[in-house]
Amino acid sequence: MYSIDALNILQEWFAKLPGIGPKSAARLAYRIIEMDPAEVKQFAQDMYAARLAVRYCSVCGNLTDKEICPICADEKRDHQTICVVKDARDVMAIERGREYRGVYHVLGGVISPLDGIGPDDLRIKELLDRVRKEPKEIILATNPDVKGEATAVYIHQLLAPLGVKVTRIAHGVPVGGELEYADDVTLMKSLEGRRPF
Ligand code: ZN
Repeated sequence: MYSIDALNILQEWFAKLPGIGPKSAARLAYRIIEMDPAEVKQFAQDMYAARLAVRYCSVCGNLTDKEICPICADEKRDHQTICVVKDARDVMAIERGREYRGVYHVLGGVISPLDGIGPDDLRIKELLDRVRKEPKEIILATNPDVKGEATAVYIHQLLAPLGVKVTRIAHGVPVGGELEYADDVTLMKSLEGRRPF
């Protein structure tokens, strides 16, 4: 069978990325071959540099290129209100609305037994450590789907004895929908309309 090893290796790498099937992987690999070598070199270097530079904020778990992310480092923000989200993309989605003035806690996923993701795989212990310090309100802003709800219920059970106010975002985000894809207005409305858990 006719094949070119170097091209196959490239395709295999692309196929490891989320949402990339074999056909897309092949298309991307061919596109790389068509590109100017200097451009490909820069692409590879930028990819490696980004991987080294970007890490998780030591406070909230958001992605950052510093020890502490700009949101946690911002003294003008309300550090007593913590919005709990699934991942860094949800932080970006809420930040796009420019309304929310509290801080975040990024779980790094949601509880999903079928995928082998339990509470210990998420940054829940870190959240409890933060709650024991100063916060007044914890907004559970995981997606309004089955996993997001289950995760919110689980965290609420842990927070209840700590005497902190716990709220859940309103269902402005459609049930089964994802925060990341909600428009800015819907997202703001669901934050504003949050209710006691
Ligand atoms: Zn942070």
